[in-house]
Amino acid sequence: MSLLAIHTLGSPILREETQLVTAFDDDLRTLIADMFETMYAASGIGLAAPQVGRTERLTVVDVEGAKYAIVNPEIVFREGKDRAEEACLSMPELYGDVDRAKRVIVKALDGEGKPIEIHATGLLARCLQHEIDHLHGKLFIDYLSYLKRRAQLVKWEELRVEYPGNLRQLKAGAVTEPDGETM
Ligand SMILES: [Zn+2]
Repeated sequence: MSLLAIHTLGSPILREETQLVTAFDDDLRTLIADMFETMYAASGIGLAAPQVGRTERLTVVDVEGAKYAIVNPEIVFREGKDRAEEACLSMPELYGDVDRAKRVIVKALDGEGKPIEIHATGLLARCLQHEIDHLHGKLFIDYLSYLKRRAQLVKWEELRVEYPGNLRQLKAGAVTEPDGETM
C-alpha cells in the first residue's frame, strides 16, 4: 500500500466527471487499499478518486465504523433536509454549512463488483452525498452563498501556498486534523 497525494482546490481533476468502472481487477483493489490508507492518514471519513488524481467512479468512506468501497454509485432515494458544516480533504481549513438530504439510499458496486445498497442517515448520508458530488466534479463550496464562497476563496489564496502544484503530500503516521469529519 502507498500513500497518495491529495489534489487540492485548483487542480483541474477535481472539476472533471469520472468514468464508470468496468474492470474489477488487482489495479482497482490496489487503488481502493491506497485510498483507505490515504484517507486514514489524513484523518478523513471519506475520499473520492478525483481527490487522488484518478478518474475512476470510486469513493471510500468510513463513518463511525460503516466502512465501504463504493463503485459507480447512484443516489436512488433522498428524503428530508439537514444543514451542517462540511470540510473537505482537498480544501484544508475551509468550512461551510451545506444543506443535504437527511436520508439517502445509494446503489453501487463494491470493490469486487457485487451490488450493494446503502441506507444512510446522519453523517453517513452527508458523507455519501459529498463524495458522490466529487465523482461529478462538484465541491461543497459550490453550495455556499456568493459571499460565503468568496470569503472561503479569499482564505484559500493564503492557504494554497502550502500545496505547491495543488498537491497535498501526507506523511505516514502523522495524523493531522483532530476533528475527523473531513471528506
Ligand atoms: Zn471532499
